Amino acid sequence: MTEAAGRRPRVAIIGGGPAGLMAAEVLSQADVAVDLFEAMPSVGRKFLMAGKGGMNITHSEPREPFLGRYGARRDVMTPIIDAFAPEALRAWIHQLGVDTFVGSSGRVFPTDMKAAPLLRAWLHRLREQGVRIHVRHRWTGWGADGALRLSTPEGETSLRADAVVLALGGGSWARLGSDGAWVSWLRARGVDVASLVPANCGFEAGWSEHFRERFAGEPVKAVVAHFRDVSGREWQRQGEFVVSAAGLEGSLIYALSAPLRDAIAQLGSATLHLDLAPGKTLERVRAEVAHPRGSRSMASHLQSRVGIAGVKAGLLRECTSRDTYDDADALAAAIKALPVRLLAPRPIDEAISSAGGVRFEAMNRGLMLEALPGVFCAGEMLDWEAPTGGYLLTGCFATGRAAARGVLAWLGLQAVAETAS
Ligand SMILES: Cc1cc2nc3c(=O)[nH]c(=O)nc-3n(C[C@H](O)[C@H](O)[C@H](O)COP(=O)(O)OP(=O)(O)OC[C@H]3O[C@@H](n4cnc5c(N)ncnc54)[C@H](O)[C@@H]3O)c2cc1C
Repeated sequence: MTEAAGRRPRVAIIGGGPAGLMAAEVLSQADVAVDLFEAMPSVGRKFLMAGKGGMNITHSEPREPFLGRYGARRDVMTPIIDAFAPEALRAWIHQLGVDTFVGSSGRVFPTDMKAAPLLRAWLHRLREQGVRIHVRHRWTGWGADGALRLSTPEGETSLRADAVVLALGGGSWARLGSDGAWVSWLRARGVDVASLVPANCGFEAGWSEHFRERFAGEPVKAVVAHFRDVSGREWQRQGEFVVSAAGLEGSLIYALSAPLRDAIAQLGSATLHLDLAPGKTLERVRAEVAHPRGSRSMASHLQSRVGIAGVKAGLLRECTSRDTYDDADALAAAIKALPVRLLAPRPIDEAISSAGGVRFEAMNRGLMLEALPGVFCAGEMLDWEAPTGGYLLTGCFATGRAAARGVLAWLGLQAVAETAS
């Protein structure tokens, strides 16, 4: 333990996203000097980007399904989330003078759907609590003497602190600051880091040129997607997605992206089955398809009897053989379970988030690295993933808090932590 006798302990936080800022909040409420270093010219760039499409900050569903969203990391995330659960997160936002509401999907948003007013109020409060924010300060690893190396507009500098919180983000949208460069630096120091891979991402489907030209950009609404993952688990999601030039993207696809990605990694491809007519049973679709069509074209027959038109009709053509159209049973089966073969996830830089990162086994319960005593990690750089729906930000806030509490315990200031939050 490195309790600093006779002076306030100094903690360096690297990374000014939601996880780092939350660590700064908890630490600055205790008797700790907090310096936060951010590589970009301003903090919270990804947080602000998340606010562009409507900032979905958490979710209102009950505890059990909420925790289930963290999948394989549910157990390790449970105490972390329980210590800063969605209700506590909402109360914290309200304290900053920003109201929240629950949307029809159960997702929680700030009233104005934006991130900027929240970030502004938060930064104001952090500065009042004494947090010193140093932008354009890029951490570049450790020097031979163990000091933190920083690249700043004034040149290279180094720094010592009683504890360090790394909150460097994942590997998506590198232009917003989190570029995953830290992975090799931590590995070189003996930290077990799972490779960063895309999460909440689109997929390549290898469309024909004709289909791509005709339908790229078209939303596909009211479909149900089925997928059997490598362990045999059946996934089913209703919703909508968008046909992209490369393949598929959008909320329905993101929700299935983790098992799809893992199946592609193991098997080379993954086949998603789409129900294009979820309101009708297979028998009903078969009867409609088999209904005599007279002189009408197959396209207008399918449109009038089954409601398959536009991009749905295009998908049906693209993903079935010509023979299917001569066989009512086969055509009905394709409408109810259209096989779409996905070949690869889209690149990590396009993904909403990344999976992989510092393995929980490499840290103690306070999120301190076993290989680097006094160095703590938080946020998306940890090896957990979750779908969109506010689970990502909730996880980042909660792990930021957990790492800060770990720091306080390490500095012998646990009692302050208990009263500070
Ligand atoms: C388009 C988009 C929309 C999203 N929408 C939502 C949403 O609605 N709801 C939701 O829950 N989540 C959403 N997310 C995900 C969410 O924004 C992230 O999970 C979250 O911001 C991660 O927080 P973090 O603090 O771990 O990392 P980041 O926010 O990535 O912050 C890490 C910070 O560390 C800095 N940094 C990195 N390396 C260094 C270094 N070497 N030295 C100094 N600083 C460094 C970076 O510049 C960055 O500012 C969205 C993401 C994207 C891209």
